[in-house]
Amino acid sequence: MTFKTRDREQFEGQDILNFIKELPNDAACKAYLAKIKWQDGFTCMKCGHTKGCEKVDYRYHCYNCQHVESATANTLFHKVKFGLQKAFCVVFEMSTSSKSISSIQMGKRFSIRQGTAWYFMQKVRKAMKSSQKYPLEKLIHVDEFTVGGKEEGKQGRSYDTKKKKAVIAVELTDGNKVKRVYIRSIKDYSAKSLTPIFEEHISTSAKIVTDKWRGYQPLKEMYDIDQIYSNNGANFKQLHIVIMQVKSWFRAIPTHVSKWHIQAYFDEFCFRINRSQFKTSIFHKTINRMVESKPIYQNQIKQMLSV
Ligand SMILES: [Zn+2]
Repeated sequence: MTFKTRDREQFEGQDILNFIKELPNDAACKAYLAKIKWQDGFTCMKCGHTKGCEKVDYRYHCYNCQHVESATANTLFHKVKFGLQKAFCVVFEMSTSSKSISSIQMGKRFSIRQGTAWYFMQKVRKAMKSSQKYPLEKLIHVDEFTVGGKEEGKQGRSYDTKKKKAVIAVELTDGNKVKRVYIRSIKDYSAKSLTPIFEEHISTSAKIVTDKWRGYQPLKEMYDIDQIYSNNGANFKQLHIVIMQVKSWFRAIPTHVSKWHIQAYFDEFCFRINRSQFKTSIFHKTINRMVESKPIYQNQIKQMLSV
């Protein structure tokens, strides 16, 4: 191998020149993945044996069953079609920038076919999905909104079928700033559809504020919910700023977003917002999650689209 071994364990920061310098080719990226994948030692994915040796190209050879496992096997980088360095560049763009870019732009920037870029970006979004381990706490504002379809600028719940409905929960700091955000795609505004975001992302000890919508009433049995008048959004100012950001981000996505993968875009949006204070490590964290996630194949993503 001709590249220089990297001094640091993980890439830090958002500097693209540094990024290219530290990960200059496919081999350097493979070494990076191998370091993460086998950081706690080797376990053969075929037989579970833990003794083996690492070969020069970062593959691991199992002493028991002779299986040879690559650094990308069983991760979201499995069978990536356009080389690992380009794949790392896509992850870098999606994780470190404030808005990411479309698959069309991504394709042009790294000479990847738009469709191929799109599928790989769906894999990155899978890694950006919340682990649900850290529910929102303290003060949380919750509301619903729609994206897509025609913007009428009118208040209230929209029943336009072309629009995608969503519910958003925003955790506020003591100084009333946005701390963390979760968004969930919903099919309607019923209590049943509003419940999952509470179960997945909101601590039962949190203080929650919503508008007067009756869909939240059954949730009061489990959660401390205060229902106040929205006053055209004035009482939920920070939350509405985040909703505007989501809407403007969606307007920049030119491809049709089906209701099944709209959630992946919400996950990506929230992942970046929730880590905006930790931009130094965001690239490394994303790569880590992609190594830990099980691979997902193009036909599985396709199936999700056709439902
Ligand atoms: Zn084995």
